[in-house]
Amino acid sequence: MKIGWKKVAASLVLVGVVAAMVCFLQEENKSTTRSLFAMDTYMEITAYGRNSENAVEAAVDEIERLDALLSTGSAASEITMLNQNKTAVVSEDSAYLLRRSMELWKSTGGAFDITIYPVMKSWGFAGDTFRVPTDQELKRLLDFVDSSQIAYDEETKTVVLPEQVEIDFGGIAKGYTSARVSQIMEEYHIKSAKLNLGGNVQTVGTKADGSLWRIAIKSPDDTFPYLGVISVEDKAVITSGGYERYFEENGIIYHHIIDPKNGKPAQNGLVSVTIVCEDGTLADGLSTALYVMGKDDAITYWKAHKNEFDAVLFDDTGMLYVTEGLEGSFMSELEYEIVSEN
Ligand code: ADP
Ligand code: MG
Repeated sequence: MKIGWKKVAASLVLVGVVAAMVCFLQEENKSTTRSLFAMDTYMEITAYGRNSENAVEAAVDEIERLDALLSTGSAASEITMLNQNKTAVVSEDSAYLLRRSMELWKSTGGAFDITIYPVMKSWGFAGDTFRVPTDQELKRLLDFVDSSQIAYDEETKTVVLPEQVEIDFGGIAKGYTSARVSQIMEEYHIKSAKLNLGGNVQTVGTKADGSLWRIAIKSPDDTFPYLGVISVEDKAVITSGGYERYFEENGIIYHHIIDPKNGKPAQNGLVSVTIVCEDGTLADGLSTALYVMGKDDAITYWKAHKNEFDAVLFDDTGMLYVTEGLEGSFMSELEYEIVSEN
């Protein structure tokens, strides 16, 4: 039998093409997961696709960079230096966060206020020795909780703080970080990724199989496993709750979301607030702010900004409120009420 070299060559090419396709598909299905501890919390990043390893590596670098830059907990961070020296020319990241924080401070009527830091410290939330400050002490500190006292020159990126004023991006930094990591995923052409920064979730695209991500909203206690599940793509799902960080003294629970009106842990009837929107920075800032506002003001705020975000509010009577943009994507075994514009 005569074997034509052309046939052999053609077969070899075919085998080569099939092998390349198998490799390609395997690479496409590849996923990379990394866990790390940063910003005082456990984080997990998963990305899918051929570039996932490089993308996740770049994401981890970015998280570590932002942690070192923004953390009030580290002695050398830009924010610690600013709080100490009272003036600084700040990085692009801090400049951006300052601008967003000021916008939120204005739009939330002061419920979100980064100058809350001296009050956070007096409760011990900046370290780990908790204490209950006296009313007198809080009253004195509240004179310096006022974002209008921050002098900021957008052009030169120069910030000046009065002697007693200190700032903290703790209510917004994780959301900003997740937004930055999403951008990195885009730069690496990642079509599917999920970041969980200590309960703050950001999704990139859909799941690898094209279906929506299903994000569970944590329950504040053990009565049920979770409050509900939200199906999303390309969105941040960020929750604030008093149960996240707190201490107990004489049977009273004191948590880390402070009402700038009185300097005390916000107690306006909400147990947790989840914000759903594309912009992680906004979602994080609003989760803190709406928690401070309480249910009625939070709903009023949503009505005025309904194109920007959706929310799930859980109150201390056990009632769940879900804004109408989530109708159809929110699922729960608990009873809930859809909040609409009217
Ligand atoms: P978590 O950090 O648990 O995700 P939040 O996003 O609600 O929760 O952020 C709480 C953090 O925000 C606090 O630890 C503190 O650094 C800061 N913070 C507390 N109260 C306020 C407030 N009223 N405005 C702005 N930031 C706040
Ligand atoms: Mg927040």
